[in-house]
Amino acid sequence: MVRAATKGTLKRIARPAVTSVGAPWRRRILLVEGSDPDACSVTGLIGCIEGWTSDVVRARSIADARERLSGGGFDAVLLGGGLPDGEEVDAVVAISVAVPEIPIVALTDRGGGDRGLEAVQRGAQDYLDKSKIDAAALGQALRYAIERKRAEARLVYLAHYDQLTGLANRALFYERLEQALNNAPKHRSRVAVMFLDLDRFKSINDTRGHDAGDALLQQVASRLADCVRQGETVARIGGDEFTVLLEGVRRLDDATIVAQRIINAFEAPFDVGGRKMVMSTSVGVAISADHVRTADLMLERADRAMYRAKQQGRNRFEVSQDEPDISTGDLFDTTCEVERALASGELDVWYQPKVQVTDGRLIGMEALLRWNHPRLGLMSPVRFIPLMEQSGMISAVGRWVLETAMRQMKFWLDEGFGDFRVAVNVSAQQLEDPAFVDTVRELLEATGLPARNLELELTESMLIDHASRTQHVLEGLQGLGVRLAMDDFGTGYSSLSYLVNYPIDILKIDKSFIAELLTSPRHNAIVTAIVGLGRSLGLEIVAEGVETMEQLEVLREMGCRSIQGYLLSQPQASVDIEGWLDDRTATEPE
Ligand code: C2E
Ligand code: CA
Ligand code: CA
Repeated sequence: MVRAATKGTLKRIARPAVTSVGAPWRRRILLVEGSDPDACSVTGLIGCIEGWTSDVVRARSIADARERLSGGGFDAVLLGGGLPDGEEVDAVVAISVAVPEIPIVALTDRGGGDRGLEAVQRGAQDYLDKSKIDAAALGQALRYAIERKRAEARLVYLAHYDQLTGLANRALFYERLEQALNNAPKHRSRVAVMFLDLDRFKSINDTRGHDAGDALLQQVASRLADCVRQGETVARIGGDEFTVLLEGVRRLDDATIVAQRIINAFEAPFDVGGRKMVMSTSVGVAISADHVRTADLMLERADRAMYRAKQQGRNRFEVSQDEPDISTGDLFDTTCEVERALASGELDVWYQPKVQVTDGRLIGMEALLRWNHPRLGLMSPVRFIPLMEQSGMISAVGRWVLETAMRQMKFWLDEGFGDFRVAVNVSAQQLEDPAFVDTVRELLEATGLPARNLELELTESMLIDHASRTQHVLEGLQGLGVRLAMDDFGTGYSSLSYLVNYPIDILKIDKSFIAELLTSPRHNAIVTAIVGLGRSLGLEIVAEGVETMEQLEVLREMGCRSIQGYLLSQPQASVDIEGWLDDRTATEPE
């Protein structure tokens, strides 16, 4: 029984039973035969098989046969003809699909050798010419069919199951995983793979011997099987490596709850030969995404996540961060997650300074959102902003960022940290909201922050998509006295018409250009052009992502006036950036 490798039946199916052939044994045979006279004679023959006591149950159609077999308890099927709902070969196929473990002997009419052969090709184990049978031949055929079926099951078992633990092996796991990945889109759900590696298992083998190691692996297998539901697959794919396959995953929790259950399942010590052994495991979790759909890729990602779990101290699980599954879809109930994040303080705004090249004066702080997720750790907005945009939650979060940053800036102003601007990133959806200008106005009033201390960063794509409506909003914002910056300049269309038509005050040269500034003459030429363009249009130019003194020097020579980047500081939480500000004022010449 191949299916049985999954949970629940694990212990029962561990190995196919082996019985001795000649033992006196009560057999239960299902005779599938439509025509009465044949049935009577065959029943009689079965009764005469030497060494057997047999119960013969009669089915008169394929449907009847399937129903009776579904109740279990039969040792073999004898398949005659004259069935109302199909030919004999149809019956072979129907029965062997419905009950793959049941041996079938087909009875053919006189001279029906070809049909008999066909029956065997379709799944019967043997066939007999009805006109020639006697009890001995029938007994032999049935015994042979039963043994042959058992041997087949044994082969299937060997090919699919791990001999030590009875769990699915690597081959079966791959087969199931591939099938699951194929089915997932149909069910609009995802597949999760967990990769487990026992922590310091080798030392058990080395110090306690391989028998102890084996016994431990068997107990681990059994505990793992108890962590999953019926129908979910646990496999042993290598020495101390196990994998788990979950289907129908709709939220990350569906997988992480199981991962945690697995970690917990190792809490109680194992008992090997009367001695207690403490063992833990590290687990990597990967979840399928639209572009992560092959078994290899899934395992590779789960493996990498597992490696990270090891690095971070073992006895824990980590979720693969390679795939942007968190930003691509229905996996999370985003609304709930974000509401919880807002309510429980998981969201935070970090700040990165922007200074003037000529005199090092602090001119601004960019507010950058961070999500300290309870399971996924500290996340950069690139991972979750797209998801928030998809779910429409970005407007609520964007408003929260705006308010938080404005209150912070007001505090800095009041506390004498300096008179600079806080720059907040705005997403397209916020800008499309006709009430956005009112929101900003209300927040300015509520926080008491002067409008000149606020800057909003926009990207070009926002301007392209909804040109006329956005123009209106931008003019409204300008009317409030808020400054507007074009972010990531150079990566989009960089159309000059935006700079002419929209009330933009600042151009932020994208960090990808700065990264190549010293190595690529083309990038260098583009930066030179942007700086020249900005200057002649009277715009403030900020180079983003400045990491080295060399880059700073080149930018200074080009006439770029402001910079932002790791050279000055990484983005930091507000209290940390205050420390940075204090240090600067302490060392700055008056
Ligand atoms: P961005 O607006 O281009 O922000 C600059 C990104 O560059 C930040 O990444 C920052 O940490 C990083 N960075 C700064 N200096 C350097 C440097 O010297 N070298 C390198 N390699 N990187 C540097 P972060 O914080 O991960 O933000 C990523 C993006 O997420 C931002 O790109 C912005 O588009 C978006 N974002 C951040 N906060 C918000 C927000 O509150 N609302 C919206 N709508 N988007 C946000
Ligand atoms: Ca930005
Ligand atoms: Ca940028």
